[in-house]
Amino acid sequence: MDKKTRECPICSSKKIKPLLEKAVDKEYGDKGNWDIYFCPECQVGFQNPLPVLNNSLENYPPQYSQYHPRRGTLLKKLYQAYLQKKAKKIEKLIGQEGNILEVGCGVGQSIKVLSGYGKWKMVGLEPIDYPIKEGKKIGVHILKGTLSSLAKKEKEKYDLILMLHVLEHLPDPKSDLKYAYQLLKPGGYIVGETENLLSWDFKILEKFWGLLALPRHIFFFTKDSLRLLAQKNDFKTIEINFQPNTEGWALGCQFFLQEKIFRKQLNKRAFYYPILLAIFLPLSLTQTFFKASGVVEFVFKKNL
Ligand SMILES: [Zn+2]
Repeated sequence: MDKKTRECPICSSKKIKPLLEKAVDKEYGDKGNWDIYFCPECQVGFQNPLPVLNNSLENYPPQYSQYHPRRGTLLKKLYQAYLQKKAKKIEKLIGQEGNILEVGCGVGQSIKVLSGYGKWKMVGLEPIDYPIKEGKKIGVHILKGTLSSLAKKEKEKYDLILMLHVLEHLPDPKSDLKYAYQLLKPGGYIVGETENLLSWDFKILEKFWGLLALPRHIFFFTKDSLRLLAQKNDFKTIEINFQPNTEGWALGCQFFLQEKIFRKQLNKRAFYYPILLAIFLPLSLTQTFFKASGVVEFVFKKNL
């Protein structure tokens, strides 16, 4: 096991303190437990000790939900509506044409859908073979590697880098953003999403939070820590928006029921999961209004 750090990996403050101790993987049942620390200076949460990349890649079993296209009419429709909103955002930033790299694209379902909304040249990036192979089956081109390995081969190539729920999976997001900067053309954008540690759902559910996703989530950002992360890498923060998210509540409730009532871990979404998603929708919309929802969207810009 790696050694615990005494410094915040984002702002180097020494005032970091434990937030959750011995938290476990309630989603897939990975063996082990993890401590989450919090930095009161820049407001970021992170696993301590921080894993190294090669070890962290072992945490993605083939049954990992992001490696499977969404099933069920409702989930598919919701996903399409979500991506349509993203397509509008991308079009507003770079227009109808341009090169887009989607980091951590999974099997490339998002690339497939987004390509239908614009003339963008889209390519994915994944460090693991399984999703690359699956992506090929649906005709999506996915490069194998990481931002660092790609930045060593290519420079200033992309108009926009998409990072939907990726930052939290990276053992060193600060240096990865440096590589993203190198891969972007001047004036290029990063559009991303990540979980919000200062959400009501985390504050209430804590170890049961559906977006904790240990050990796969390594960092837990907030509006302030995202701004600092951008600033440290010479990006300008253009936008930070709070997004409605019911997964933190729904999955958290499933975990709670599994542990306290059914006493059995499922390692997948329960049959009643879609019902929980619907139940928590009004609350999550309220949270969004109060800027305390489970997910934040960010847009960073590289200088011209
Ligand atoms: Zn910090």
